[in-house]
Amino acid sequence: MIWHTLTGETVINKLISNGEKGLSSEEVLKRRDAFGKNEIPDTKNQNILLKFLNQFNDYMIIILLIAAAISFFIAIYEQKNDFVEPIVIIAIIVLNAIIGGIQEERAEKALAELKNLTRPTATVIRDGNIQTINAAELVKGDIIYLKSGNFVPADARLIKSTELVADESSLTGESHPVNKNHNSLHNENTPIADITNMVWSASAITGGNGVAVITETGINTQVGKIAKAIIESKAPQTPLQNKLEQTGKVLGTLALSICAVIFCVGIFKHIPPMEMFMTSVSLAVAAIPEGLPAIVTIMLALGVQKMAKKNAIVRKLPAVETLGSASVICSDKTGTLTQNKMTVTEIWGNEQTVLSYGMLCSNNSDSTEKAITNYSSLKNIDLLTYKRLKEIPFNSSTKYMATINKKNNRYIVAVKGAPDVLIPKCNMSAEERAQATEANRRMTEKGLRVLAVAECETDFLPNNIDLPLRLCGLIGISDPPRPEIYDAIKKCKKSGIRPVMITGDHAGTASAIAKEIGMSPYAVTGIEINKMSDAELRRNIKKFSVFARVTPEHKVRIVRAFQVNGEVVAMTGDGVNDAPALKQADIGCAMGITGTDVAKSASDMILTDDNFATIVSAVYEGRSIFENIKKAMHFLLSSNIGEILTILCAIIAGLPAPLTAVQLLWVNLITDSLPALALGVDTNNMENIICQKPIKRNKSLFADGLSLLIFLEGIMIGTLALVAFCIGYFKFANQDIGRTMAFCVLSISQLVHSFNVRSDTTIFSSRTPKNKMLFGAFVLGVILQVFVITNPLLSDWFSTAVLNTEQWKITALLSVTPIVVIELSKMFGSRRTPY
Ligand code: ATP
Repeated sequence: MIWHTLTGETVINKLISNGEKGLSSEEVLKRRDAFGKNEIPDTKNQNILLKFLNQFNDYMIIILLIAAAISFFIAIYEQKNDFVEPIVIIAIIVLNAIIGGIQEERAEKALAELKNLTRPTATVIRDGNIQTINAAELVKGDIIYLKSGNFVPADARLIKSTELVADESSLTGESHPVNKNHNSLHNENTPIADITNMVWSASAITGGNGVAVITETGINTQVGKIAKAIIESKAPQTPLQNKLEQTGKVLGTLALSICAVIFCVGIFKHIPPMEMFMTSVSLAVAAIPEGLPAIVTIMLALGVQKMAKKNAIVRKLPAVETLGSASVICSDKTGTLTQNKMTVTEIWGNEQTVLSYGMLCSNNSDSTEKAITNYSSLKNIDLLTYKRLKEIPFNSSTKYMATINKKNNRYIVAVKGAPDVLIPKCNMSAEERAQATEANRRMTEKGLRVLAVAECETDFLPNNIDLPLRLCGLIGISDPPRPEIYDAIKKCKKSGIRPVMITGDHAGTASAIAKEIGMSPYAVTGIEINKMSDAELRRNIKKFSVFARVTPEHKVRIVRAFQVNGEVVAMTGDGVNDAPALKQADIGCAMGITGTDVAKSASDMILTDDNFATIVSAVYEGRSIFENIKKAMHFLLSSNIGEILTILCAIIAGLPAPLTAVQLLWVNLITDSLPALALGVDTNNMENIICQKPIKRNKSLFADGLSLLIFLEGIMIGTLALVAFCIGYFKFANQDIGRTMAFCVLSISQLVHSFNVRSDTTIFSSRTPKNKMLFGAFVLGVILQVFVITNPLLSDWFSTAVLNTEQWKITALLSVTPIVVIELSKMFGSRRTPY
């Protein structure tokens, strides 16, 4: 159907709907069953089987599988009985792939749950009732209400519109907003960008309001048709994920080269080629940290889930990383730093006059006006009951609201607004003006939001407020700070984060509140900013913590000025006009309660409680995630270096390989997955996190000497395993005993070492939070390891020998050595990794 060629009424009839009452609930159910949900299906999701198979999409794994298969057939062909090894190799690889698949599934689920939290809503009329529902529940024929700040939830034909303007850039690429009109009609071939009687899914309403009937939903919408391409493209990786992938590639190549060297040296030393090949390929599989990117995705996703529970919904994954680097948080005042519980506490002038005229130009629609209404009813003010003819609505640029009312044959103009805007417009003597200005100063100094009320009586119908206004007086409204804000500001200061207040309110009010909550009260106003060039603003910006009487347009300049100075800026916003600043900021934070859809979609994070303290705790969560990623990487790399060195040194020294291929793969299985993941979700000592400075943008994961530390720890683990092998091989003169001891030491010492990387200070301190998952991974790992050695069937498969008590004691001693060495180094040395 070509909907734009038909009138609104015809469209409603064709869709069998009702413009006044909307569809009935039964009809909605029928249509949803017939046409499905208003969603664009996500084809990217693979099922768990595919995810499992994907784990084999790795060169080394494929080579190992081929090698295992070859050795299996050789064993059968030669009628030797040693085909157990290839089978165990394959079993371990399959087990590894299952774990990898489950991890990926978990990461995806976590991300999908987050998507659910940010699902768009729509206002619809059904059965005659206006309701807000999940936009996915909409069906063809639903009647929806649109107002400035909304996203259009589906393609729809307008049936009513008042100065409706839509931004369709996401669909048409046209950057200018389009004026919409329900009365217009178009011919069939009109291009989408020129159709003014329809609104398109995913475009934003930037002005006015309207009512529309839904004509297409989900994949059949215009955006649905082009969305296929978008859906099929892979979700972009975060900078850290990219960096890790690159690091992984470099380390992988290095590990591969070393394995190739090991293979050559082994051949040179007359170790059977097939055995040497299996050992070196298994070593490559064990040593390449191929699971790291998946673990990082899980960490980011789980971190994001944790933040969601603390009222911060991260919309874009890279924001998690950026959060840890945030050095400036620019916040709105009302509702974010304060409670948005406004109460009139002071009136200057005649109370009856000020409040009656104040009420004459009020709609009781925002918290400022509600405060005036409450106070007036408390004081039993006699209200003026003139007929309202016209209204000039409040907006944050003009900063006043006026109404024009009829009293018999005369007209009464009532105005309320910012005193610094209204007082200059009022007719009064210099002395009266000085008194009013002084009263305003006194009230703002107390942190009150001040409104001036003025009126004028005329015998003609005025168009604006350029009249000889008479000042009635001033109203002072208090809005106490949120109780948690004091602590949040203190924490910011400890953490090297600069809190900044951005407000449309008076500089005096803003400074007083800033002072009260512990921020620097040094303020600059929008007018002063207008006089500064970008370079001047950049030079001076560090001086200011309060930006008063600013409009959303100033916000972009403020963010940029901070950014040019090298700061990483988080910025809050709620209105349509805040979208550019939210996009410009490194972390745009939209208000969940008061924010418009447009602000939310421009943001990186949504604050469901509109609270400044939530941003601060999200920053700490970001820092914590960065630390945990570092810990997991630290653990994995030091362990893998240990594995490589064990084999490399032994082969160079002319010894047999201290571990068989199967043993190496097993070590990889029990150390690389669970402990690394447990470190990734570690609970950090919050005191330490708070006391850190913001993480420098683009800071290397290996900064502060971490690479050297990793290498030294790798040497420690390698040495311990080698010592175990040598003791078995030389002292007990048995290669299998040596291998069994080395096998045990290599895996258990890594498990023990996982506790070391948790903290830069001793892990036995009561300040180090518990990590039950890591402890569980450790216990499970040790039990499995001991089981593999002591169970007769498994010990046969893993070619291990039975150890006597003395050998067990030596093995245990060597296995716990990492904790002793690292604890001593923490006690005496100066470790530079700041966990
Ligand atoms: P904040 O940062 O505290 O949220 P804001 O940016 O929302 O403040 P505005 O609401 O734009 O600030 O208010 C700016 C000024 O306009 C106020 O200081 C007040 O004097 C005046 N004002 C606020 N609300 C109204 C209203 N409903 N009618 C008339 N004047 C108002």
